Amino acid sequence: MTGDDPAEGTRPETACSFCPESADATQVISAIPSAVGWSARSMVHPNPLYHIEGEPGRRGDGIYDRMSSVGAHEVLVENPRHDRHLWNASDDEIGQFLRLAAERIMDLKRDPRIKYVSLFKDYGPSAGQEFSHPTSQITATMFVPRRVLYELRAGREYFVGKERCVFCDIINQEERQAARVIEARGDYVAIGPYAPRVPYETWILPRNHEASFERTGLSKPGLRVNLAALLRRTLQRVRVVTEGFHLVLHTSPNSLHPSNTLGYWKTIDDDYHWHIEILPVLATKARSYTFKEVYYSPVSSETAVKQLREAKIDG
Ligand SMILES: [Zn+2]
Ligand SMILES: [Zn+2]
Ligand SMILES: [Zn+2]
Repeated sequence: MTGDDPAEGTRPETACSFCPESADATQVISAIPSAVGWSARSMVHPNPLYHIEGEPGRRGDGIYDRMSSVGAHEVLVENPRHDRHLWNASDDEIGQFLRLAAERIMDLKRDPRIKYVSLFKDYGPSAGQEFSHPTSQITATMFVPRRVLYELRAGREYFVGKERCVFCDIINQEERQAARVIEARGDYVAIGPYAPRVPYETWILPRNHEASFERTGLSKPGLRVNLAALLRRTLQRVRVVTEGFHLVLHTSPNSLHPSNTLGYWKTIDDDYHWHIEILPVLATKARSYTFKEVYYSPVSSETAVKQLREAKIDG
């Protein structure tokens, strides 16, 4: 649908600092090379939340732990073109972006101070989108974000009781019942979770057990193609319902340095299962609210999945 001349692509009104011709090359961290220069690249966030320099300096302040904002904050430019998004780029282009994401996470995890690397994307004004260029962001932090920590602990508890991965069990059950499977593509599957936090919430997971996205992303290029296609098609489906969304990758925490970080956590490779969560932002404010992790959604998961599965997409 966007096979037109690049020069005629949607141009931003003001100079975009992520378009190839105007970007500040000194801010580039790494790039996936291509025939036209690069296909995806990471840059320093112009207004970073975390900085890699300095010592963490954790110190007590009353009951609180104070920590200076040591870490990293990068912008992943998904595509050189200003109008090529994860739902209208080619599978190969999306695959290159996934490769970059895996490489950056792997690289940031080499720093033993880093406990977690988050990849996320906010799209649409209602989702708090920051840049008009197709971008995602990465933060590397000295703490594990609360939502991930909750998942990790729940995963470990389930594993201790059943000696199985809870996500594998969910996938098996969903594929058997088929009521909440949106689409399966090769080794990946998109499902509507049993208890969505927002209407049309969608998860993409590898069907076979894998704790770390970056390991899959780097070692199996063939799988990347299926994941790229499933991500593209799923975002097209979501965009039939609403334009804005949050996307977040949940992968295992930094276990490269077991002695300093997760030495006590012996089963992390068996009890966690990476996935992508897509949380659509509905224009009309959904009557979805939280009460101690209990979510009420006005659209049932099965209805939402049926609608997403039947959504007309480009192919
Ligand atoms: Zn741009
Ligand atoms: Zn699993
Ligand atoms: Zn998650």
